[in-house]
Amino acid sequence: MDLLLGADCGATHLRVGLVSQEGKLLAAKKVASPLRTNSDQFGQILFELAEQLWQQQKKKSAKLLGVGIGVPGPLDPQKGLILPASNLHNQQPLQLLMQLRSLTTSLINAETPILFDRDTNIALLGEIWQGAARGNQNVVMLTVGTGVGGAMQINGQLFRGQHYRAGEIGHMIISSFSKVKCGLGHQGCLEGLVQQAADEEELSLWLGLGVTNIVQIFDPQMIIFGGGQAAYKRFLPQVIKVARSHCPESLLNKIRICYAEQGELSGVYGAAKLVLENLQ
Ligand SMILES: [Zn+2]
Repeated sequence: MDLLLGADCGATHLRVGLVSQEGKLLAAKKVASPLRTNSDQFGQILFELAEQLWQQQKKKSAKLLGVGIGVPGPLDPQKGLILPASNLHNQQPLQLLMQLRSLTTSLINAETPILFDRDTNIALLGEIWQGAARGNQNVVMLTVGTGVGGAMQINGQLFRGQHYRAGEIGHMIISSFSKVKCGLGHQGCLEGLVQQAADEEELSLWLGLGVTNIVQIFDPQMIIFGGGQAAYKRFLPQVIKVARSHCPESLLNKIRICYAEQGELSGVYGAAKLVLENLQ
């Protein structure tokens, strides 16, 4: 049984998992993310974790079909670069693909595919493959963690935009009168307002307005909330209540709003799926 390696690396954590082609997660590990502080160690840490997971498998005849990696955007997925102006505050592009190709590991060779995508795109891909969005064509995902990320699938296809920058729902401007800025300096964007909300009521208000805009623009089948921060979960009903007071109720009632079924592992599944799609 040949396997897929899925890695999801945000600003806080690196999660790595071995996934079968049928979508079964066989083993996974989580460590602190090296991207912000030790980005030159990224490849070494990733391969060390992958080798540990591989040793646990006892499938000596299996081979690794490819490596999928989700990272914060903006990025150049073909060149495997994280560009400046990401939440990592990197001044220079981070050359992750070049770094991975320069390292020696028994798991991959020069032909093994190594694929990159935005972390929120792979989280959504994971939920479409093995999570809450199975069988859905039009889905928007919001991830609330270090920042607020977004991704969307339209008519069964992940929509990445003309310049690979689509889905930055966290940076839509909610209140230009607000003095609050996000880490990228946008005044009154959703991410900044959510990060600096004084209490749960205010947080629910901003996320509820975000949901309202998503509903009005995309009219999706479902909106999925995911991300590393579990604390916001308990006030999703409040978020929906805010959206209800701003959206046509007849429309909102048709849209399922739920949590990511695979939780923090959505991205690992999605990164593995990225490899699988590339093989087909
Ligand atoms: Zn912003």
